Order: sequence, then C-alpha cells, then structure tokens
Amino acid sequence: ETLSNKIAAGEVVERPASVVKELLENALDAGSTRIDIELQDGGLSRIHVLDNGTGIAPEEAELAFLRHATSKIKNEDDLHHIQTLGFRGEALPSIASVSKLTLETAQNQATGIHLRYQGGRLIARTKSKARQGTSVLVEELFFNTPARLKYMKTVNTELGNATDVVNRVAMARPDVSFRLIHNDRQVLFTNGNGDRRSVMYAIYGKQVAQNMLTASKTSQDFEISGFMAKPEMNRASRHYMSVFINGRYIKHFPLLKAIEKAYHTLLPIHRYPIAVIAITMNPALVDVNVHPSKWDVRISKEETLLLEVSEMIRERLQQETLIPEQ
Ligand code: ADP
Ligand code: MG
Repeated sequence: ETLSNKIAAGEVVERPASVVKELLENALDAGSTRIDIELQDGGLSRIHVLDNGTGIAPEEAELAFLRHATSKIKNEDDLHHIQTLGFRGEALPSIASVSKLTLETAQNQATGIHLRYQGGRLIARTKSKARQGTSVLVEELFFNTPARLKYMKTVNTELGNATDVVNRVAMARPDVSFRLIHNDRQVLFTNGNGDRRSVMYAIYGKQVAQNMLTASKTSQDFEISGFMAKPEMNRASRHYMSVFINGRYIKHFPLLKAIEKAYHTLLPIHRYPIAVIAITMNPALVDVNVHPSKWDVRISKEETLLLEVSEMIRERLQQETLIPEQ
C-alpha cells in the first residue's frame, strides 16, 4: 500500500504547486469560504493549507489516507456526473507518502483529530482542539524520494508555479476568500465577495482590472462569461489567459487558441491577450478523468464551444469598434 501510494504520487505530486492544487481542491470540495495558504521556500520545506470547510469526522480521517477508499466514483455512471473537483481519492495518500504530513480536522466546533504521517506511515494520532475545518501541513516534500527532489527548481520557480495555481483557483472561485503567504510575506489576498474583477485587481493590478471588457453568451449547451483586456494590453506569453469549466481551472490549448483567434490581427506577432473565461456546462459533457492531475479535460461539442467563445470575444471587441464589422 505504501509503495503503490508512492507510485501514484509520481503522477499526482510533481512539485509543490501540485500539492497546493490538490489541497485547494479538497478545501473547495469541503465547501470552504476561507482558505489560507502558507508556504516556506516555494513550498519545498513547508506547505500549509487551512480551511473553514466541513472537516472530516474523526473516525473517518484515517480512511482519507487509504488510496481510493474515499473515491467518489462507484460506477461508470458516476464518472459522468462529477460535481466535485476531486474524485479519485488518491491525492492525500500520495502526498502523505512523499512528505511529512500533519492533518488536523474537526467538525462543528467539536473536538477533532490530529494525525501525523511520515513517508505514508501513521506516526501519531491524538485529539485536536475544537474548531471547524481542516488544516493540512506538508513538510519536507520528497524527503524520501531523492530522485524527485533533485528535479526541483529554484525557490523562485517553485513559488511562481504555486502562486500561479493559487491565482487561477482564486479567479475560478471569486466567492471564496484566499490568502497566500510566502516566507511571512503576503502574496495574494482576495475577499471572497464574488466579484471576479476584484480578484483580477489583486492578481494583475488596477490598470488591467479596470480596463477589462466583459461579455457573456448563453447557448443551448454552454453559459460563457468573460473578461477580456483591450488588445493594447497584451502580454508576451499565453500565461495571461485562463479558462474555467464549472469552477475548475483547466489547461486546454484549443480554448486558448479560440481566444487568440478572436484577437486575430489585433495583436503583434508573439503577443497574447489577457482574458479570463468562465464556462458553465452540464458536467456530463466534460470528461475530467483524462489524467490524474485533472488539468486536462475532454469536452463533447468542443467545436461548438470554441466557436462560441471566439464569437463572444469578437463581438465584444467589435462593439468597442476595435475591430471593423465584416
Ligand atoms: P478526493 O479529493 O479525490 O476525494 P483526496 O485524497 O484528495 O481524494 O481526499 C480524500 C478525502 O478526504 C476526500 O474525499 C474528503 O472526503 C476528505 N478530505 C480531504 N481534504 C479535506 C478537507 N480539506 N476538508 C474536508 N474533507 C477533506
Ligand atoms: Mg482531492
């Protein structure tokens, strides 16, 4: 079991940013409205995620560290109706197998439980003080997998990756308050008031946030809403485009291309727009079970979606008379 967790970790836990992503997803699945993330040394020495979600019942906490024991997928049909961000039941066991992990969780302000794992082995189990929510502390990631540790980049690179994850998740969920602290310095704070523009303000600054155009489009299968920067506010990388499907940040190249296409002829070569596009659709039409990291998705009616995203942006840019009518 410990070994298979370690093998699974190879796929799920690539670097500190992947741990941050999995812990944030768990906190969101638990219905948290406030999530605090604290990192030391880009997350290499310490990642702490504290939430105010449902917590885990003390008698069930250990189960969360058994791979697939908590899988939300019981049959083929479930796979097509995934409403939660996590569903494989392998993140916690995987992370615990390659780190020193401390979980503290409590429900309804009652006494909770405190579990400590080292390299996947339970080494301490005590009661925790009464509170509401969950705290997961991950120390010395990859301490027992030297080969993996060797592949870690500089603190700044790991911090950049982890910050990027928090930023995108915060944009995906403006209704949740996020705070990211690195080495005692605050990197991000969002107030959770539901306003996506204020999240963009926190991430991209005033200039960008205030100048974003908005648009939305509803069709039979998709509800699309987006913020798009005017073409003059372009960037040198694709990094400033984000796409969310049903509150999940995804990496989907064709969707990024669809956004770029709408800006076609408006941007110099090798320059890309800033755009944040949120799509709501029937979960049955999107397959998130492509890769354990769940970044990648398959979308049925993808062609239609790409067209609609592109059209929505293009029409909005046209309204601004940035593009002449055709
Ligand atoms: P998955 O998210 O795929 O179900 P994980 O390994 O990430 O699997 O988590 C295992 C289980 O532990 C979850 O299904 C959930 O029941 C519980 N859990 C993990 N983190 C939290 C949290 N922050 N709050 C409440 N429950 C949690
Ligand atoms: Mg999970």
